[in-house]
Amino acid sequence: MGRRNDVRGIRVWARLLGLRRTVIEDVFIDEGSLVVAVRPNWLERDRCGVCRRRSPGADQGEGRRRWRALDLGTTLAFVEAGSPRVTCRRHGVVVCAVPWARHTARFTRAFEDQVAWLAVNTSKSAVAELMRVAWRTVGGICERVAAEAQREVDLLAGLKRIGIDEISHRKGQRYLTVVVDHDTGRLVWAAAGRDRKTVEAFLDQLGEERCKQIELVSCDMAGWIAGPVADRLPDAVRCVDPFHVIQLATDALDEIRREVWNDARRAGEIAAAKDLKGARYALWKNPENLTDHQKTNQRLYRAYLLKEQLRQIYQLPAEAATRLLDGWIKWARRCRLAPFVKLARTITKQRAGIVAAIEHGLSNARVEASNTQIRMITRRAYGFHSAGALIALAMLSLAALCPPLPR
Ligand SMILES: [Zn+2]
Repeated sequence: MGRRNDVRGIRVWARLLGLRRTVIEDVFIDEGSLVVAVRPNWLERDRCGVCRRRSPGADQGEGRRRWRALDLGTTLAFVEAGSPRVTCRRHGVVVCAVPWARHTARFTRAFEDQVAWLAVNTSKSAVAELMRVAWRTVGGICERVAAEAQREVDLLAGLKRIGIDEISHRKGQRYLTVVVDHDTGRLVWAAAGRDRKTVEAFLDQLGEERCKQIELVSCDMAGWIAGPVADRLPDAVRCVDPFHVIQLATDALDEIRREVWNDARRAGEIAAAKDLKGARYALWKNPENLTDHQKTNQRLYRAYLLKEQLRQIYQLPAEAATRLLDGWIKWARRCRLAPFVKLARTITKQRAGIVAAIEHGLSNARVEASNTQIRMITRRAYGFHSAGALIALAMLSLAALCPPLPR
């Protein structure tokens, strides 16, 4: 064990470790790590770890605990203190709150803030290696930091135009329901599940008064979103997300491509089959990439034009767009391409919602951008132990909840 420090030394340690409202008792080296023994100052003593209310002491708990602090240079650092407990009126016998760390954390507040900042702003391996923690641990830290930030900010205040969508994670087996604010582009709510109950949980949290303020809701064509939205947000215009409309057309085109490719293969036209396979990517993108040989396949080319023209409706003023949409429905109905005939039926059924999206200027670019961002985060979060950790990382990144770097 080390020696007692003089007053000046103590102030230096408190400063170096970013410790406030804390009394430093001792500083020593233990197995190569720096350990700072502390206790909360009189203002912070005897507070419930959950609600921070001052409460009568219960016992000394389970001895001393250590919290990992930010490294000092290249040396690992820990804060060490006892774990006395209090009897809170609401929470019973609870370990006391400490000013340097969040309740139940094994890391200091500054350490966790830095991990959260790095998780949002750098790569997965950079966070884990730099901070010397496992990626799973990063997930737990994100959960604590996001939960605290969400208690301080009301993300559901002032919502007017929102988008509700589903995101698959874990290779498509599990889903999140997410809510985006179209005016700020922020993610404002997310929960595991994709069903009516999940959407209702969001509407419950929004509350009756704020439900009345919602002017527009965009979503895909699924009933599990549209149903509760119609029931609980009677004044909101329901729009069909441009992103999903274009996605359906892309899927229909892809189906035709596969049919044509299989036909060609069956016919033994190996050369043509190879060419079509290679054309898949081009067909997802731009007309100028099409070769003459590809254009000679009339069915495929027609499918391609149908998809492109549907995409066009989102680039025109409302009136022209509606005319083009109606023209498109007529064309698709008699195009003799089964997937597009089917799509024409779907679009006819959803016409009101599609037109509403155009009239309200719901741009596909924005909806798609937030969609893409969330998908990127779900990919990065792979390896977290729970959907909660993934949601936390998404909220830190896309709801602007990330704390600044500690300084
Ligand atoms: Zn309490």
